[in-house]
Amino acid sequence: MSGTPKNFAMQSLPSPPLCNPGSSGHPFLCARRCVYVMKRGWCHVQSCKYCHLDHYLPVVKLNKRQRHLLQRLDRKSKIDLLLAAFRRGLQRAGLTDQAGSFIYLLEDVASMQPEPEAPLNKRRIDDLLKALKRMTLNDNITAFEDVLPEQVIQSFQDLRRSLAPTCDAPMTMSSKAERSLKEALEEFPLQAPALTWLL
Ligand SMILES: [Zn+2]
Ligand SMILES: [Zn+2]
Repeated sequence: MSGTPKNFAMQSLPSPPLCNPGSSGHPFLCARRCVYVMKRGWCHVQSCKYCHLDHYLPVVKLNKRQRHLLQRLDRKSKIDLLLAAFRRGLQRAGLTDQAGSFIYLLEDVASMQPEPEAPLNKRRIDDLLKALKRMTLNDNITAFEDVLPEQVIQSFQDLRRSLAPTCDAPMTMSSKAERSLKEALEEFPLQAPALTWLL
């Protein structure tokens, strides 16, 4: 009863659960950081769907105009955009090979969509694509969830789980992640030609 809250906190801080669902695929395919981990350093929710490991890149979100454009796009254009953004993200993360079957599936889905009827505003599309390419792969998927078949979402979750072992050694992975993210940062700003994703 007389123990100060400070001592109590020092002694009984539970270590964060490893490999909670949100941390799977860290650092490139995991969910956004858990607010509890950010604010108080730990989170006791074993089934937490947010990442419990260290992140070094700022969260990139779409602005209002980009969100509005995304909402109005046809399915084919959306999936093409996702493919372009995702390929770039995988390349940055060095995961292109591991994600081969996921990309193959997504390309298959894209090829089955009818071409858009209305011409697209290339400049705005390019602005949207630039933002998407700076987002995490998990945020990419979330932004397009409404047009993705269940099979694709499942394949993405499988890919994340296949990378889950990183959660077993968070300390080592943190330094590794820091290095590779620094390398990734050096690549910014992206120099994507405007229409790469259309080709
Ligand atoms: Zn993470
Ligand atoms: Zn959490």
